[in-house]
Amino acid sequence: MRQLSSTFVFVSISLFSAAWAASVVTKKEVVDKSTAEFEDTLNDADFESNLHQRYDLHTLGIKVKDDPTIGNYSEGDILLESPKKFVEENNKLGRNAIRQMYRRWPNGEIPYTLSSQYGSYARGVIANAMNEYHTKTCVKFVARDPSKHHDYLWIHPDDGCYSLVGKTGGKQPVSLDSGCIQVGTIVHELMHAVGFFHEQSRQDRDSYIDVVWQNVMNGADDQFEKYNLNVISHLDEPYDYASIMHYGPYAFSGSGKKTLVPKKSGSERMGQRVKFSDVDVRKINKLYNCPSGGSSNSNSNSNNNQINTNSIVNNHPQV
Ligand SMILES: [Zn+2]
Repeated sequence: MRQLSSTFVFVSISLFSAAWAASVVTKKEVVDKSTAEFEDTLNDADFESNLHQRYDLHTLGIKVKDDPTIGNYSEGDILLESPKKFVEENNKLGRNAIRQMYRRWPNGEIPYTLSSQYGSYARGVIANAMNEYHTKTCVKFVARDPSKHHDYLWIHPDDGCYSLVGKTGGKQPVSLDSGCIQVGTIVHELMHAVGFFHEQSRQDRDSYIDVVWQNVMNGADDQFEKYNLNVISHLDEPYDYASIMHYGPYAFSGSGKKTLVPKKSGSERMGQRVKFSDVDVRKINKLYNCPSGGSSNSNSNSNNNQINTNSIVNNHPQV
């Protein structure tokens, strides 16, 4: 009897230790910059890792901003040399532009490679974020095949979180450093790459939010750029405070006071970086003409050249 109970204790401790060991993630399982970097892709195991336990990166000693998608680039985390120049160039294209600076990915298929410096935890979280697209939209992230795919995303831990908007050609960087390894943050960055700007860049945003310019930190005015309809399309969807692409109320505040004040109700989730809103999902499905996506007016969208929602570019001739 005695032996039995000690065996029981031993087994219990072993099980507990195994569970503990399995649950602890180290910084290196997020990003390990000491290893050689090459272009890798995710495997089935990464996509199958459900990651029931997701970590608060702070507990791993990783510095995370309140909103990691607020970076140091134009429009926070959109990699553009000059948003103003971008808008001017697009406006110049005027009515005759079939050419688009940013384009949709053919068939909604987005080839990618991934840095070998990501550890198993980061790979699982990135796969989880891609799965959000795979389960809710027809956009599909596929491992790049160099013999087929010239244009692709290169996902790597460069500096903060950033992305370009839409397909820009060639090897297109997406940065997710260790502070960005959270599903909502990655869904946000990938949505830029899919073709979307920030929600508050919409042409009609002044009806929905006030930008409190005196609270915006010096030099950050550009972060609140607004695009006209030559640049972005709203895809017949309403302004969406709950979009995963909307800035939060304190974005780029220099004073600790609010920089964005909603003018209407329904803004409780403004700035959330947890998951797609329903409207986000509909817009992606419309942009890519997904079979099950869009609403009853999806036919009216299939004929236009518009690229995005609060997304990009394109000038549909207004005859
Ligand atoms: Zn962003």
